[in-house]
Amino acid sequence: MGSTPITMHELPVAESILEISLRAAQAQNARRISDIFLKIGQLASIVDDSIQFYWDTISEGTLAQGATLHFERIPTQLLCLDCAHPYHPSGDDLRCPRCGSARVHIHQGQEFQVDAIEIDSD
Ligand SMILES: [Zn+2]
Repeated sequence: MGSTPITMHELPVAESILEISLRAAQAQNARRISDIFLKIGQLASIVDDSIQFYWDTISEGTLAQGATLHFERIPTQLLCLDCAHPYHPSGDDLRCPRCGSARVHIHQGQEFQVDAIEIDSD
C-alpha cells in the first residue's frame, strides 16, 4: 500500500499557492493555468506529495484545475558566524565543518515561493 504522509501543515501552503497563481493569472486574462513552478528550500518542511494531494481538491473549479505543479528544491546554504565559512551541510548536522561552531546563519534553504506560472490565454 503506497500511503502518502499527509499533515495539515501543507493545506495553508497549497491555498497560498493557489491564491498567488490565480491572482497572477487573472491579471493576464488567462483562460487556464497549465503549469506552476515552485521553489522550496530544503529546510522548509514541506512535503511535495501532500501539496499535490490538497492541490487536486482546492483547485477544482478554478483556473488552476489540472495544473501541473513543478517543485524545485533549493539546497541549504549556511554561513558560520564564528569563522565566516560558507557551506552546504551534510545530512542533519548543521554545524560548521571547519570550526565545529553551531552559531550559523541560514543563508539559503528556507525559501518558499511561486517562481512562475504558465497560462493559456485567449
Ligand atoms: Zn566555522
